[in-house]
Amino acid sequence: ATPTAVMVATGVGASNGILIKGGDALERAHQIQCVVFDKTGTLTNGRPSVTTAKAFNGMTLSEMLAFAAAAEAGSEHPLARAVLDYAYHHLVFGGVPSTPKSPSRTRDFSWVKKCSDFKALPGQGVSCIVEGQIVLVGNTKLITEQGILIPQQAANYLREVEERARTGVLVTVGHDLRGILAVSDPLKREAAIVVEGLNQMGIRTLMVTGDNWTTARAVAKEVGIKECMGEVLPGGKAEVVKSLQSDGTVVAMVGDGINDSPALAAADVGMAIGAGTDIAIEAADYVLMRSNLEDVITAIDLSRKTFARIR
Ligand code: ADP
Ligand code: MG
Repeated sequence: ATPTAVMVATGVGASNGILIKGGDALERAHQIQCVVFDKTGTLTNGRPSVTTAKAFNGMTLSEMLAFAAAAEAGSEHPLARAVLDYAYHHLVFGGVPSTPKSPSRTRDFSWVKKCSDFKALPGQGVSCIVEGQIVLVGNTKLITEQGILIPQQAANYLREVEERARTGVLVTVGHDLRGILAVSDPLKREAAIVVEGLNQMGIRTLMVTGDNWTTARAVAKEVGIKECMGEVLPGGKAEVVKSLQSDGTVVAMVGDGINDSPALAAADVGMAIGAGTDIAIEAADYVLMRSNLEDVITAIDLSRKTFARIR
């Protein structure tokens, strides 16, 4: 392609809200053989909300939610916001669904119990001390690594939640499992059609997520992705990209989070969701300003049209 063709293509990209960081990035995209998607905030809207919550082990739902909110108030994770908003509606507004304010937006934590020794455990959840008791909020790994047993009844409920593509958030107080919240994060409306389009273009699609395997499989199935990996620790996504590249496969990564940035940098073509974190945007070769997954296809098409004739 001539420098003029590259300039024109870059301009066409920009007018579609696709920022391309240089001619090399534009060129590499026409060779993409495989696209790895992050789940949360990339394939999904990234605005999770609690759909149901269950208390176990003699605690009332209100008591359990109060402990969960106390622990999550210190976390910036989207799941923490979902837990806080749900607890707020239940505890402050008595479950009336249409409340004007949510604490995660207004930062009003006056109703939340105090906690000390807060710790965020990346890829797992949070822990802290509330009213002299240790509280953990997070996934199965967090709970079982602390040697806490998940009773059969709770395990059954958790599986049911996860098989419906929801993330189960577990709550323990004083070394006993006290609650499970089901958190739903719907797929972006265009997600399935984009996956199908890529597959029709002969491009392999994968999904990687820090979320548990059962939820990961359910979401992947819903969106039409056959290969997925769950329980990927922060940093592990880059390893997945590198292992795909090891036989010469040209790999694109699409992601939005801080923990996607090493994978975005490692990929032959990193594409950041515009609504994502600054760190992801910096690490990527492409920024999809509209945060619409259709632009993954538009970007590859643009590169193919610009570079196809010189092959
Ligand atoms: P991803 O962004 O790929 O979903 P993360 O590494 O952010 O992955 O989180 C992985 C998992 O760790 C989440 O699915 C959740 O189960 C758990 N987790 C992390 N932070 C929290 C939190 N603040 N509250 C509850 N669970 C959490
Ligand atoms: Mg994400």
